Amino acid sequence: MIGEKKIPRILKKPGVIKDAIEISIVLLENKLQLLERNDPDTIVAFKEWFGQDDEGAKGIILERIKRVLRVSKKLSVENFKEINDKKSKTKYAEIYPDDELLMVYLGEEFWIAPITGKDSRCGVLIHELSHLNDIGGTFDYTRGESDCLMLARKDPSDALYNADSFEYFIEI
Ligand SMILES: [Zn+2]
Repeated sequence: MIGEKKIPRILKKPGVIKDAIEISIVLLENKLQLLERNDPDTIVAFKEWFGQDDEGAKGIILERIKRVLRVSKKLSVENFKEINDKKSKTKYAEIYPDDELLMVYLGEEFWIAPITGKDSRCGVLIHELSHLNDIGGTFDYTRGESDCLMLARKDPSDALYNADSFEYFIEI
C-alpha cells in the first residue's frame, strides 16, 4: 500500500497498456522491414546485440519478430494483470512461457518506464512476449545494456536467446 503512493494512480490506465501494444507493433514492423532489406545500420546493431549476423541468426530473429507481431495484434488490456506481491516494486513484468491464456503481469517499474527507447514499456512488452515458448523461448541469461553487449561478444549463441538482447535490438 505504501508503494502505491509513489506511482500516480492516473498512470495506471488501460490507455497506457493500449499505447504500449500499439507502439510495439509499429516498432516491430519497422525493425522487421529494416532487417529484411539488410539495412546497414540495422545489421551493425544486430551484430552488436547478438554477436553474429549470419543468415541463420537473422532468420531466427526475423521469425521471432513476426511471431511477436502476430501475438501483439491479438493482445488487449484483458491480457494484463498487476504483480500482486512486494517483488512488484522492483519488476517491470513477468510472464509464464507456457501460459496459454497469455497473461502479462506488470510490476511497478513498468508504469514509470518511458513509453519508447531504452528500458521502455514497449521494450518490456516485447521482452516478455519473447519468453513464450511458441514465440521465442528466450531466457534471462543476463540483463542490462552493458552486460548484454558483453554477452554478445563472449557467447553469441546465448545472446541470440537472451530476452534483454532482443528487447534492446528492437527498442533502441
Ligand atoms: Zn525476462
